[in-house]
Amino acid sequence: MHYFLTGGAGFIGSHLAEALLAEGHSVHVLDDLSTGSIRNIEHLKGRPGFGYTIDTVFNEPLLAELADAADVVFHLAAAVGVFQIVESPVRTITTNIGGTELVLKQCAKKKKTVLLASTSEVYGKANKVPFTEDDDCVLGPSSKGRWSYACSKLIDEFLAISYWKERKLPTIVARLFNTVGPRQSGRYGMVLPRFVQQALSGGPITVFGDGQQSRCFGYVGDVVRALVRLTREPRAYGEVYNVGNDREITIEALARMIRDKVDPNVPIRYVPYDQAYETGFEDMRRRVPDLGKIRGLIDYRPTIDTEQIVESVIEHFRSAR
Ligand code: UDP
Repeated sequence: MHYFLTGGAGFIGSHLAEALLAEGHSVHVLDDLSTGSIRNIEHLKGRPGFGYTIDTVFNEPLLAELADAADVVFHLAAAVGVFQIVESPVRTITTNIGGTELVLKQCAKKKKTVLLASTSEVYGKANKVPFTEDDDCVLGPSSKGRWSYACSKLIDEFLAISYWKERKLPTIVARLFNTVGPRQSGRYGMVLPRFVQQALSGGPITVFGDGQQSRCFGYVGDVVRALVRLTREPRAYGEVYNVGNDREITIEALARMIRDKVDPNVPIRYVPYDQAYETGFEDMRRRVPDLGKIRGLIDYRPTIDTEQIVESVIEHFRSAR
């Protein structure tokens, strides 16, 4: 099989490319390196079946050519990371909506299976635990920049599902919960690599708010395995699936775990949200996936827990140093 990955030099994309190559498939990556990095795919260069192009999904003739050549397309190219979203909302909205529109349009010409990487952010600030795919999405007002990301990804989801309903383009939506592992950068706000890098540099580890908000961290290896399996299930077409881990940890507990593993003397500093992001920033307290739907379709079991993930990320940054 030949796979085409938009955003394939990003953290998740590079792990996905690696997994597909290991199965003997060929892979072409398109990435504009806005948040991805050539370093993420350096080790794949020269491997049989691997190719890449540094460009954006807005280069439509190129996109058409790469989509045409593929059997299956993973659309991962998007503006990501809460820091980026708060700082560059125009870029976030136009990249996410415009990019997905073009990818679906090109894939529809020859009916290529497309998996859209969406996000648990679309559940917004609903208080429900756990989140199931048919739950309401509760987003904040347009005056609060954070919600532009959820809103743009929700439009992407509507578009993907509509392409299936109206034009029979096989599309699948994966709502990724906090995905972590080696090669993830802390530069765009993601908490786990940030804490590890802060701890390795002697601190402080910056916990935003009171640290009692919680998240569930899914290991990237488990997540990409699930994504690949979803594309092989025709019953998944036109459907939305939560993908992640359902084990919850507070951000304060995560900070302490990382501190204890790196150096128990590293200080932890609590930073108010207004200072960390922007005035009036709204965070969600809990975000837990209901994994019943995906488990009803494929064999999906997270293989490694948060402690092991943290150890692998520490190891990654230590060896990079
Ligand atoms: N967070 C934190 N310190 C940081 C970065 C993030 O306490 O240096 C918090 C953030 O406010 C949120 C949680 O960690 O409550 C997860 O943040 P991330 O940006 O990784 O993902 P998301 O908010 O999308 O779940």
